[in-house]
Amino acid sequence: MSTSDHTKSPTPEKYVDALRRVGDLSDNLVQMLRLHFHANNRTSTADELAVAVGYTHRSVANSLYGRLGRQIGELLDFDPGSVRVDSIVLTTKPEGRWLWTLRPEFASALQTIGWVDSSHVLLPEEIGATAEFKEGASLRVTVNVYERNADARRECIAKYGTDCCICGFSFRAKFGDIGDGFIHVHHLKPLSEIDGEYTVDPVTDLRPVCPNCHAMLHRRVPAYTISEIQAILKHQKTAEPCGEREPPMTPVLKS
Ligand SMILES: [Zn+2]
Ligand SMILES: [Zn+2]
Repeated sequence: MSTSDHTKSPTPEKYVDALRRVGDLSDNLVQMLRLHFHANNRTSTADELAVAVGYTHRSVANSLYGRLGRQIGELLDFDPGSVRVDSIVLTTKPEGRWLWTLRPEFASALQTIGWVDSSHVLLPEEIGATAEFKEGASLRVTVNVYERNADARRECIAKYGTDCCICGFSFRAKFGDIGDGFIHVHHLKPLSEIDGEYTVDPVTDLRPVCPNCHAMLHRRVPAYTISEIQAILKHQKTAEPCGEREPPMTPVLKS
């Protein structure tokens, strides 16, 4: 009767309880959990999670997930595998790299606790400056550093203007004076391809995007490309032609 099953996940309620007892998580960990929750099949690699919060190496994901996994495992007396993250993710290694899939019960608890609401997904602009750090000789920086670099931003806008390069949205046209000059700048290069002495090239590496399109670009890790989001938008327009589904609003005159 009291034999504990060490492979069966605790219930979502138990995970909620454990998460509340763990208390405050670092911003980076919450951001990784959010991205993980919204990834395809809730599956990601430690590398992708690390890159998403501005690090170039998986160790940050391994250590933050590992610590949370250990804390939750201890609180719930749940020790299903050989590594600490096993208490919160299911691990597989189909093509030579470890994939982490959030345990459904744990994912459900994250939702209950309100940490993964898609409307709260942070844009790179909002990731704290804490993700910028020095390690050894190499300076590691976040994507948002490139996107926020004032000079690079200015040059990007001088080249491409302030209309969204995906949907054409203009804050100036929509909001008048207060919208003048407002636009996000998206950095095209995946951080995983950046090393050492990289300097951003504002013309080849940056594009102006509106916050909506920017959020959709980062809806996946690694980010969608500009042309992928354009293709999605175009497809949506064909599927739901704006103003063509409703009958024309002409007054019906009765004779
Ligand atoms: Zn846009
Ligand atoms: Zn971006």
